[in-house]
Amino acid sequence: MIKHDSLNLEKSLKLLEDAQAVTPAGVHSPVRAFKAVGGIPPVIDYGSGSYLVDIDGNRYLDFCCSWGPLILGHAHPKVSTAVKSQIDKGMTYGACTELEYQLASFIVEAVEPVERLRFVSSGTEAVMAAIRLARGFTGRDLILKFTGGYHGHSDYLLVEAGSGAATFGQPSSAGVPAALTSETAVLPLDDEVALEMFFNQHGERLAAVIIEGIPANNGFLIQRPEYMMRLRSLTEQYGVLLILDEVITGFRLGLGGAAAEYNLQPDLLTFGKVIGGGMPVGAFGGRAEIMKHLSPDGPVYQAGTLSGNPVAMAAGLATLTTLKNESPYPTLAERTQQFVTTLQSRVKHPDFQVVSRGSIFWLLFQADLPRAAHKIDPAGIQRFNRLHSLMLAAGYYLPPSGFEVGFISSAHQPEDLARAADDLGAIIADELRAA
Ligand SMILES: *Cc1c(COP(=O)(O)O)cnc(C)c1O
Repeated sequence: MIKHDSLNLEKSLKLLEDAQAVTPAGVHSPVRAFKAVGGIPPVIDYGSGSYLVDIDGNRYLDFCCSWGPLILGHAHPKVSTAVKSQIDKGMTYGACTELEYQLASFIVEAVEPVERLRFVSSGTEAVMAAIRLARGFTGRDLILKFTGGYHGHSDYLLVEAGSGAATFGQPSSAGVPAALTSETAVLPLDDEVALEMFFNQHGERLAAVIIEGIPANNGFLIQRPEYMMRLRSLTEQYGVLLILDEVITGFRLGLGGAAAEYNLQPDLLTFGKVIGGGMPVGAFGGRAEIMKHLSPDGPVYQAGTLSGNPVAMAAGLATLTTLKNESPYPTLAERTQQFVTTLQSRVKHPDFQVVSRGSIFWLLFQADLPRAAHKIDPAGIQRFNRLHSLMLAAGYYLPPSGFEVGFISSAHQPEDLARAADDLGAIIADELRAA
């Protein structure tokens, strides 16, 4: 059956120790250090389809998919071919290309609220630019985000989230001056009353509200459509821009992202992850009337040496074109649903459920479904974290934190998923029985 002790991570361990001599914790993004879940993070040799292989030769079914971008799986032939052929023509020109025009047109056509769009190199940058643009457009400074909403690592969005009431300006990272977060307000999700009170008091000086398409960085907190609609109507009423951060959900839930699912018309949208097909790409876009305030047409400055990088554009274009031509979304959703249902039936415990939408899923160790960060039971997160190394040893690479969601790619075959549901089900059921 499942071999819990079969994992040899000798080479990974050695490399991570060496890496610590040149890089803090040996990692270039903190969660990769596996601090929350313990154990040794495998150092990856290559990815192929739905699998990851580490430098010790261990093979894992990959449910992290590089945190979302790899909706077609690793090294998809169409994406690889597009990248290789662009590389031979040069990596970057710092000038206009057809590719960036093609990818921008694709997104403008697919995502209804996007009339104009500009590329940057990460989701963080996309959000930074969208916020600056919203402030420049409205002439107001205050922004509102939600508890547990992650929008990249820019200073004024790294704000500690207080539960229950609005909090102002408590940076959640050292090195962020309180002055930089004093114009960032935070509210809990899923609370119309709190929202209405906030707008009543501060609506007139609010530039923008930013919310994830479906909040998926602090658990998977699927919002009620009525809540999203209330947010839209309040922002409209007070002349506040609604920024939908679709860095995860854009082209993941469908070509139209969460905006289409909720039938929502945000003023600005931000993208990343899937649109780069595995290369570093971000984008922000929205109404032409707003976007024309960007430099050089308007006064809001924004720029990037590698923005619209042709290799990255080639990867993104190959990915989105494949998504459009092959329309894998219904199959992805079906396979995910099958996986979720089987996994739940293998575990069959009131304190375990799998929250999912499209090809995104979240293993949740509590009985009730949270829609706001403060409704997540920390004990359940701990439970996931304890199980992570057992799942890894069984050959399943899940994101290394109980707050993170998993992803399924079109390379995940039904037999992969059936085996995963059995194996993961057995591991989880064991843990819940032991408790
Ligand atoms: C990943 C993510 C970001 C940040 O993107 P990076 O490319 O990591 O800078 C921003 N917003 C959301 C919703 C994300 O999931």
